[in-house]
Amino acid sequence: MKLKGKKRIVSHPHMGNISIPVRAMLESMGATLLLPPENNKKALSLGVRYSPETMCLPYKMNLGNYVQALEMGANVLLMFRAPGSCRLGHYTTMAESTLKELGYDFEMVVFDFYRGKLLEVTNKFSIACNGASIPGTFHGIALLLSKFRALDALERKLFYYRPREIKKGCAEAVYKQGRSGIDRAGSLSGIKRALNHALEKFENIKTDSTGHILKILLTGEFFLLLDPFSNFDIEKELGYLGVEIHREVMLSEWINVKLLPSWLHSSECHTARALRFSGDYMKRIVGGDCTESIADTVSAAQNKFDGVIHLAPFNCNPETVTQSVLPHISRKENIPVISLMIDEMTGKAGFLTRLEAFVDLVRRHSRAKSLNFPAKTARTAFLHLPDSSPEILLNSL
Ligand code: SF4
Repeated sequence: MKLKGKKRIVSHPHMGNISIPVRAMLESMGATLLLPPENNKKALSLGVRYSPETMCLPYKMNLGNYVQALEMGANVLLMFRAPGSCRLGHYTTMAESTLKELGYDFEMVVFDFYRGKLLEVTNKFSIACNGASIPGTFHGIALLLSKFRALDALERKLFYYRPREIKKGCAEAVYKQGRSGIDRAGSLSGIKRALNHALEKFENIKTDSTGHILKILLTGEFFLLLDPFSNFDIEKELGYLGVEIHREVMLSEWINVKLLPSWLHSSECHTARALRFSGDYMKRIVGGDCTESIADTVSAAQNKFDGVIHLAPFNCNPETVTQSVLPHISRKENIPVISLMIDEMTGKAGFLTRLEAFVDLVRRHSRAKSLNFPAKTARTAFLHLPDSSPEILLNSL
């Protein structure tokens, strides 16, 4: 093996906050870690340069991360493979052969959720680190799960406070401080302290309770939902437009489902909820996050959300199926839905204009509903943005 005798330097791609808990686990297992810079334009352009044009955005971002990590000196790349019938199953093989063709000397370690859960992950992490002690592994798992939970608790607070704060940016600042505290913490008690400290600071943020806060559910493809660079920081933009967002896809729940056996789950997982809610619209699972996106939209309507935003990478097969079902749900459940497709060609300004127009429409729809206008008057059409303009959005009520 080419890496024989060389120091193993491990890296993995970014996706939102995922590197914080994963780094804690790998370092506890004794790994030397070297992460690429957070997702940025450079990573995207590298990914685009070395990917087939029709690959989806998450693949291009991952590939860009790998190139940056290898250039910085990493020589062991980690990636997961997951069940489903989308292209994610081919990511690792494609990325590995592309990077080898580019002349990089590295080892790809793939943990495969088809094969196992916690045992598969610890086994592969241990290979990446070239062996790990049992206490270090247990400590790493505990840190991983605890950091995921703490980060999600912080995110939920941020979703609540961002649209309500009087001084713009306060909630964001508290969130960032809390996130770095959790990142720095090397013990379970340290994570708890950092989280509690941030939660206390959230409670001290001055809020305005006079305005009407819209509740919008974000759904769609997993990576795009969780990665602020790739989704143009949509959660922040919506927060500043007076929208409290909600998303069912949270990393702590996802990791619980992926790592722990079902008898250890404390609540119904997203996939199980999705199967309950999607039944009237989808008779079989088509892979990716299609079922979840459909179910989230139905559940949002039934739980009195004001609207739904569906995010999908351009050319994503499962989310293209979702898109074809959403107009029907929007009409039948009387809820405004917008589907936003993103790729490397999408411009931020155009994206934000569409977002603002949609929020405006949702506000009017919500007002019409609160005034008990007949459902037909309040109903909005499903809007497939690549072909629609803000005028269509605004005139559709
Ligand atoms: S769900 Fe879509 S975007 Fe995500 S990996 Fe699969 S095909 Fe690509």
